[in-house]
Amino acid sequence: MLFSKSFLPTLREEPKGAECTSHRLSLKGSLLFMVSSGIYAYLPFGFRVLRKIENIIRKRMNETGAQEILMSALQPLEIWKQTGRDKDLEEVMITFKDRRGRQLCLGPTHEEEVTEIVKRYVSSYKQLPFTLYQIQTKFRDEARPRYGLVRSCEFIMKDAYSFDIDDRGLNFSYEVMFNAYKKIFKDCGLEFVTVEADPGAMGGNISHEFMVPADIGEDTLYFCKDCNLYFKKEGKCEKCGRKLKEEKMIEVGHVFKLGTKYSKAQEAYFLDKDGLRKPIVMGCYGIGVSRIISAIIEQNHDKKGIIWPKGVGGFDATLLVLEREDEFLFQEASLIYELLINRGFDILFDDRPEPAGVKFNDAYLIGNPYIIIVGKRYKENSKIELEVRRSGEKLNLNKDELIKFLNDNLKVNG
Ligand SMILES: [Zn+2]
Repeated sequence: MLFSKSFLPTLREEPKGAECTSHRLSLKGSLLFMVSSGIYAYLPFGFRVLRKIENIIRKRMNETGAQEILMSALQPLEIWKQTGRDKDLEEVMITFKDRRGRQLCLGPTHEEEVTEIVKRYVSSYKQLPFTLYQIQTKFRDEARPRYGLVRSCEFIMKDAYSFDIDDRGLNFSYEVMFNAYKKIFKDCGLEFVTVEADPGAMGGNISHEFMVPADIGEDTLYFCKDCNLYFKKEGKCEKCGRKLKEEKMIEVGHVFKLGTKYSKAQEAYFLDKDGLRKPIVMGCYGIGVSRIISAIIEQNHDKKGIIWPKGVGGFDATLLVLEREDEFLFQEASLIYELLINRGFDILFDDRPEPAGVKFNDAYLIGNPYIIIVGKRYKENSKIELEVRRSGEKLNLNKDELIKFLNDNLKVNG
């Protein structure tokens, strides 16, 4: 993409009202536009990042055999009354009446709706097991929206639901999802921990959270350095009895063994091998997709801006042409851009007639993993300078070496 033709309105001054690093850099780097408190629009750069994260999730979900669907954001309140969760989630659910007097809500989650769908079609054990998932916008009437995408009123989630004939099947589906989650957060370049948690309003008896250590985290875990274990409760280490250290965490994923809470309440039954009528055994699995963007930035930044891990940044690299008025350099940089694009790399070419300082500031701020510089040195000896955004390491490469370097370094695992 050409910077000169793109809508990438990075800010030179500090954005007003920023509440933490990821919020500040998302606004300054033109990832997000704040529509109102807790409500955001994704600008082109932010949307590219979002799409990359969604596609990592999609790839790992599809690998497990889960099938993607898209449920409605509008839901009749009626289905929530069957499980009693219209009351449990009353404080956060956005509800209203439409012009026909129907009571509706903007879905904060989808257990009830997916159970309605599945019970309509499933009647025999032969149709089980399977897992459905979606990536969709969810809504919460948040009393205290803050930290940008960390706690907002409208956010994007991946939610998956497994349907099994018994607990043994559920345990298997749960483990498959648990392992897929580990791959997803690793692919996103996140440092994370898992911990057993309280299922809360979701129900069921077992759940695990995926937590990202970050100063702005709203959850707290307690860490035993000797056992390398995290606990939900303060109190000494359950294993060795030593004192625990408090660490702040952002929750990015939560998986639940729901059991038969929803299938019993909504009468989602099937006939087993012996012709007995049984409730479907369910699990549900959530990932805060938009929140991952904040978590990545909280863990990956420096004074100059964001440092995207490979595979989740807006682009693979930013290509800078310095001395834009030099026709020779500009022609050469354009050829290098074409070459890299044709090789399948995702490149932002900063072709603007701006001073070098402005270009470097933007390249550091938006934080693509590599900065490729065509400047004075290229004129002297045809060497392209490559700066690794994370380490600041600088390499001088010819065209072939540049392509080899990018090929070797941008490969995302499996
Ligand atoms: Zn311990």
